[in-house]
Amino acid sequence: MPPTAFLRLPKALRLFSLFCCLAAVPALAQKAQLYTYQDLSKTAYARQKDSLKKFWICPTLYTEKETQKKYREIWDGRAAYIATAIDNNNYVKEDEVYRYVDGILANLVSGNQGMLPQKPLLLIDRSAAVNAYAIGGNIIAVNAGLISFAESREEIALVIAHELSHNILQHPDQSMREQAEYFTSAEYKKSLDDVLKNEYQRFSKLKKIFEGYSIDRSRHHRYHESDADSLAVVLLKNSHIGFDARFFLRLDSADMQYRQPLAHPVKAYFSPYNMQLEDAWTQKRSKGLSTRNYNFQDNNKLEDSLKTHPDCDARYAATLKATDAGLNLTAIPFSVKEKANRILIWNLFDDLKLTACLYRIFLEKDKGNNDPWYDFMVHNIVQGLYYSDKQLNRFRSIAIVPKEYISKDYYALQTALEQIPRENLQQFCSVSRSLAFWQSLPADAVGLKSLMAALNTGESNEDKANASAAKAFLETYSNSMYCEFANHFKQ
Ligand SMILES: [Zn+2]
Repeated sequence: MPPTAFLRLPKALRLFSLFCCLAAVPALAQKAQLYTYQDLSKTAYARQKDSLKKFWICPTLYTEKETQKKYREIWDGRAAYIATAIDNNNYVKEDEVYRYVDGILANLVSGNQGMLPQKPLLLIDRSAAVNAYAIGGNIIAVNAGLISFAESREEIALVIAHELSHNILQHPDQSMREQAEYFTSAEYKKSLDDVLKNEYQRFSKLKKIFEGYSIDRSRHHRYHESDADSLAVVLLKNSHIGFDARFFLRLDSADMQYRQPLAHPVKAYFSPYNMQLEDAWTQKRSKGLSTRNYNFQDNNKLEDSLKTHPDCDARYAATLKATDAGLNLTAIPFSVKEKANRILIWNLFDDLKLTACLYRIFLEKDKGNNDPWYDFMVHNIVQGLYYSDKQLNRFRSIAIVPKEYISKDYYALQTALEQIPRENLQQFCSVSRSLAFWQSLPADAVGLKSLMAALNTGESNEDKANASAAKAFLETYSNSMYCEFANHFKQ
């Protein structure tokens, strides 16, 4: 699974994410909301967004006018990226998850006051990608995907320490300077001129220039990574937080979680909801380019070029000596992991990545997690799929993932979501509206059920009817996190 938040970052910022680098249980109280609609970053971080504009003033570094202009462009691009991400609600301020991660950050800051005189602003990114990123300007972001994947407080601390190290070593700033200098250099202009003089193969020559640049940068980038790793270990030791080099190996497999098999055949996960899945739907009917025979057994070792972070073995070897002997790992509280997981599952649903969202829920079922919130989400996914189908948009909502990144079970699920006939989907929608789990869900979830029903039963003048159902939801449950979904249908 390609890490999505990572890909969302513009190139200059992307370099410092974790992965170019690295990279039995009580139910949650149903009464308490996970977070409110107002906890999403557009509202919760409105103030921080405005202060970004005021305080991120580009310094004057170059006497050369052109270089300074380019530098300012890149600098402003970074501020604009963060501002847009805040406006797009990429981040959420959920109290418990925030306090937990911020506590680890505070621990690292208090042990390293010389290097970290000021505590950075922490943002919790709702992305499912197992990742964190430093953006310079004393801001770091930690993804819900990392919190959900991590097995210990120490593992999260390593990733945060690594990102803090990028900021301490001023890697993001250095990268902006290098870009400004390169793109205004004589060398770059000469190669561009050469291309323009030549009538033929302009495109392939242009490509070579950029490739040359990125190879140069990626070599450079490896030094940055190993410097950030070494400093991360120092930060951890100063804060008396344990370190184990094996964390790097585990994080290496982090983006491969959709390759984790399910405990049961796909149809077994549908039957508790009285949805009968036919085996044939999980198999491709035709043989075309996209359906070529594929042996999932041969798939265990990925080509290095396909991996997002091929160098984790080297990082393990380089830091092995710093491993603390007899390290006792600190478990992450169940409710923190559970909340992080729900944050990213809801986000996948709202982003219309329905297969990934449903697969995650099935993996939760495999862990024995029977919280009715996940049943509610299965209902939402089925409703969402039927709605997309009516809009002739089903293919997009399945969000096909290439076979290289997924398990046989994920493939079967993705194929089924593609092939369940519309009549059966409609029937699934109607049976799941009256299942027993609804009795233990809060009012806003039941309100969302009514909105979904309105979206999926409307006949004439559909858009207008949908908008008024959405508005009714927004007025009745104005604090609900599900307002985010209702908002898509407001007009
Ligand atoms: Zn890094």
